[in-house]
Amino acid sequence: MRVIVIGAGLGGLTLAHGLRRAGVDVAVYERDGALGRPQGVSLHVDDRGSAALRACLPPAHAAMAEATMGGPREQTLTLTEVGGELTVAGTQPSDGMAGRARPGRQVHRPLLRAALLTELDDVVRFGAEFTRFEQRADGTVRVWFADGGTDTADVLVGADGIGSAVRRRYLPDVQVIDKGRRMVMGATPLRAVAGTGLPGLIGDSPAGARVGGTMMALGVLRFTQRPVSAREEWLPALGSQVVADAEDYVMWALPSTQERLGSTGSPATVWHRAQELAADLHPSLRLVVAEAWPDVTAALRIGMIPPMPAWPASPVTVIGDAIHLAPGFGGNMAMRDAQWLCEALAGASRGRFDLLDAIGAYEDTMRRTSFPSVAAKAGR
Ligand SMILES: Cc1cc2nc3c(=O)[nH]c(=O)nc-3n(C[C@H](O)[C@H](O)[C@H](O)COP(=O)(O)OP(=O)(O)OC[C@H]3O[C@@H](n4cnc5c(N)ncnc54)[C@H](O)[C@@H]3O)c2cc1C
Repeated sequence: MRVIVIGAGLGGLTLAHGLRRAGVDVAVYERDGALGRPQGVSLHVDDRGSAALRACLPPAHAAMAEATMGGPREQTLTLTEVGGELTVAGTQPSDGMAGRARPGRQVHRPLLRAALLTELDDVVRFGAEFTRFEQRADGTVRVWFADGGTDTADVLVGADGIGSAVRRRYLPDVQVIDKGRRMVMGATPLRAVAGTGLPGLIGDSPAGARVGGTMMALGVLRFTQRPVSAREEWLPALGSQVVADAEDYVMWALPSTQERLGSTGSPATVWHRAQELAADLHPSLRLVVAEAWPDVTAALRIGMIPPMPAWPASPVTVIGDAIHLAPGFGGNMAMRDAQWLCEALAGASRGRFDLLDAIGAYEDTMRRTSFPSVAAKAGR
C-alpha cells in the first residue's frame, strides 16, 4: 500500500512515522520550506497526544519528546492581586470537563517538530504545494502540485491544516467560520522574569489572571531534561539548532478580537499590541509581555468548523485541523487522528480489513469524538 500525506504538521508527521513503522510506503508533501513558518512556541500535550506519539513514533523519538516536556500539569490556577501582590485565588482540576484542559505536559513546539522530522528525510518533500486530486477508475488517487509534478497512491490524506486544499476539493460544503476571535501568543525567557516570584508561584501549572475585561493565560516550561543532554541520550540524529537554543521560558496568551487588534502585521507589531492589551494587568504580568521574544509573538485566528453529516468513505480522507478545530487542543486531536488512521491503514495493508471499511471506521470515530453534538443527535 502507498499513502500520500499532504502537510508536514503535527498530524501528518505523526502519521508518517506510524505508517513507516507499520511497513506502509508513505510520502509527505509540504508546501513550506524545511524551516517552515512560526507555528507557536508551546503546546499543551495531553493524554491523547502523548498516547499517539508513543504509538506512532520510533521509541527513541518518543523518548526524546517525553524527556524534554515540562512537569505534569494537573490543575489550572486562577491568579489575583491582593494588596499589590499576585497570589493564587483558586484552582480548577484539569479534567477536560466543560471546556477545561485535560492533564498533560507542556512541550516546546519547535523541538517536537524537529524530533518529528528526524529520520524522515526520505519521506518528506518540502516546497511541494498540493493543488488537486483525481480518483481513478483503478481505485488509486492521483495528486497534482503547484510546480506541475504529480504522484499516485492508494490513499490520499489531507493533513494540511485549517485552510486544507484537500478538504476544499473533497468536502466543499465544510465551512470554516471566523467570528473575529483572536489569540495573541508569545514566550518570554524565564531568566527575564525570575525576579518577580511568578515562576515559583505557578510552578508547572497553567494559570489565568483577569483584570476588568483583560484575561491572560500563562505557563512555565522548565525542560525536565536539558534538550542537549536528552538528544545525546535518546536521539543523536536530531541535528536541529533548536536543541542548543532551547531555554526555559514562560508562554503567555491574551485573548482578543479582530476588531480590537486591527491589522497586526509583523511579529514586532503584534508584540507592541500585546503590551497594550496587558496594560491593566499586574506589573509582573506586564513584565512577562514586555520581556518577550518579539519574533515569536503571533496573533492567531480562532476559527470553528461546525459539525457535518457523514460522507461515504473513499481513498481520500482528512485528519486534524483540516476537518475539525479545537482551540487549545487541536494538536492533540491531530496526533490522535493520526494514530487512529494509522491503525486503520496498517490493518488494511495487512489484509485484516477492507481499505474503505477501515477508512470509514476511522472517519466515523473521528467525527463522533470531534463533534460531540453529532453523536448526541445520533443517540451515540
Ligand atoms: C500558537 C499556537 C498555540 C497552540 N497551542 C496548542 C496547544 O497548547 N495544544 C494543542 O493541542 N493545540 C494547540 N494549537 C493548535 C495546534 O497547533 C493545531 O491544532 C495543530 O497544529 C493541527 O495540526 P495539523 O497537523 O492538523 O495541522 P498543521 O499543524 O497546521 O499542519 C498543516 C501543514 O500542512 C501544510 N499545508 C497546508 N496547505 C498545504 C498544501 N496545499 N500543500 C502542502 N502542504 C500544505 C502547512 O504548511 C502545515 O505544515 C496551537 C496552535 C497555535 C498556532
